[in-house]
Amino acid sequence: MKVKLEADMVLDEISKALDNIEFQEALRRASTNNQVKVAQLLTEKPELIELAKEVGSLKRRSVESLRELVEKAVESLRKIAAKPYYAETVEEARKLIGDIVGSGKRVVMAKSMAATEIGLRQYLESLNNEVWETDLGEFLIQLEGSKPMHAIAPAVHMTRERASTLVAEKLKVGIPKGGVEDIVSTVRMFLRDKIVTADVGVSGANALAADTGAIVLVENESNIRLVTSAPPTHIAIVPIDKIVPTLIEAFKVAIVQATYAGLYPPTYINIIAGPSSTADIEQIRVYGAQGPRELHVILLDNGRMKASKDPVLKEQLYCIRCGRCQFECPVWIHTANTWGGPTYGGPMGIVWTAITLDPIEAGKLAYLCLGCGRCDEACPVNINISMELRHLKMLVVQASKRG
Ligand code: SF4
Ligand code: SF4
Repeated sequence: MKVKLEADMVLDEISKALDNIEFQEALRRASTNNQVKVAQLLTEKPELIELAKEVGSLKRRSVESLRELVEKAVESLRKIAAKPYYAETVEEARKLIGDIVGSGKRVVMAKSMAATEIGLRQYLESLNNEVWETDLGEFLIQLEGSKPMHAIAPAVHMTRERASTLVAEKLKVGIPKGGVEDIVSTVRMFLRDKIVTADVGVSGANALAADTGAIVLVENESNIRLVTSAPPTHIAIVPIDKIVPTLIEAFKVAIVQATYAGLYPPTYINIIAGPSSTADIEQIRVYGAQGPRELHVILLDNGRMKASKDPVLKEQLYCIRCGRCQFECPVWIHTANTWGGPTYGGPMGIVWTAITLDPIEAGKLAYLCLGCGRCDEACPVNINISMELRHLKMLVVQASKRG
């Protein structure tokens, strides 16, 4: 998929965001809350800082042996009766998923940036499927027709007033102004029926353990539990940089991600190692007990294997998508993901845009970076993000010299 990132279009979007008082207020509230929450948590539990360092080094080791880990993961997934697929490109990933889903189905999705990266919702809708996001933030984004504005908080740019108006208008229901509880219960009622009657559930993954094929997913809303267990078919999209050697390490990644997202302790950590099954009658294994009968795992490359060989860009593959660098960046806290690319945004997002889309276009966006290094200090796995951004700017200079 080649999405054009016209610099003028991006600047236009950013200008609109800067002029939008409500957008600015929502970002101010969310950034401040997250900064305070995470700082307090790390003061109370310094052992989590040590765990983050451990995750940083295990991610470095994992990226060094990425190809072997992919092979091992495929083997392990087969052993647990899951169906693994390797998608080198966006088109391949869409085609694989489109063939599994078919048309005329109801599909429910749990929050997945990888699904956004491949434009999955729109693609499945184009095949005449009914598709619903079930994470509250993603659902609001779906209703608004916009894009996720943060790695873990897609609707971070919306105030409660805006969310309330949007839900009332789109679902044609009355919601008392400013009532967050009312928004949540209205959306819960609307989505509950969609989830229990869905044909397919689509999720992402926080990590995948190569030794067992187990997928680890961390969450608070419980929508991931429902989406991965109620429908008869579960499709998990796993970017290959999320593969780590063992289940214990995958669990550590999930804990650190939740911590730096400001969500510690997470309400749920899901471990999924195969489709549901039972052997209660005569010890004969039958798939599809109370949960899915089929588990399909799409291992998404889309530039990641190539990046693992790049001395600078490979650093981004250590990223656990906690979104801390975004909340700390003095530019992002005014632009949100209007700055960074079509899927990802802010400090981490620009480098992900370089890996998954186009390094030169990403380099042009990097010119808005002030080089202050706050993102580097905030990153739990110690990625030198500002250095990556300088490197991308250099690529633009070199490309312009070549004409
Ligand atoms: S170095 Fe750039 S990307 Fe990082 S926090 Fe500062 S302005 Fe943001
Ligand atoms: S680059 Fe670091 S701080 Fe930013 S999302 Fe990734 S892991 Fe978190």
